[in-house]
Amino acid sequence: MDRQLIDKVMENLRGRQFEAYYAEDAGEAMDLIFRLVPEGSRIACGGSETLREIGFYEKTADRFSLIQPAEGSGPDEVKRAMRERFSADAFFLSANAISYDGRIFQEDGASTRVAPMIYGPDSVIIVVGVNKLAENEQKARQRVKMAACENCRRRGFATPCAEDGHCHDCRVPRRSCCTSVTLNFSRIPGRIKVILVGQELGI
Ligand code: SF4
Repeated sequence: MDRQLIDKVMENLRGRQFEAYYAEDAGEAMDLIFRLVPEGSRIACGGSETLREIGFYEKTADRFSLIQPAEGSGPDEVKRAMRERFSADAFFLSANAISYDGRIFQEDGASTRVAPMIYGPDSVIIVVGVNKLAENEQKARQRVKMAACENCRRRGFATPCAEDGHCHDCRVPRRSCCTSVTLNFSRIPGRIKVILVGQELGI
């Protein structure tokens, strides 16, 4: 993608009091993460294919303390861990789309990914491949829906989009896009940091 355009998007993100960084690849993105988040921090992550693809979980296992329910936890323990996310030192996730004018678009099912993004952790770090940049709000919303359909298909959810790849604004229990959130501005300067990575990442 055109570097001038990436610079413009970063300028627009900064104008909304988000910090913006550019990394050529996954390795540079991880170097930035290590600069931004002190060793020993308590962190949490919203489910993210992008973080998996950049090797985030393996590369941070010895460096940060990850808040997550233990394997095989029951519903009470899962709920406790999800609520603990709000007090993490840093919360990591990706975005479903970012418009060229610097707005960040997300959709979520249980909202355990978007809720700590909006409020709680002192630092929120959003890692995004340049494939998720969208020309305007309409294109961003189209991209978000495409990602929701693809996510349902990959995970085998019982939703109509998993069958035909199109959104039906469904009302089924496994709906994966129950909450739509747009970040327009950060009242706390720099709380939300965006690392744009110059490669295709995530859905
Ligand atoms: S509303 Fe339903 S059909 Fe549309 S993307 Fe979400 S889960 Fe799929």
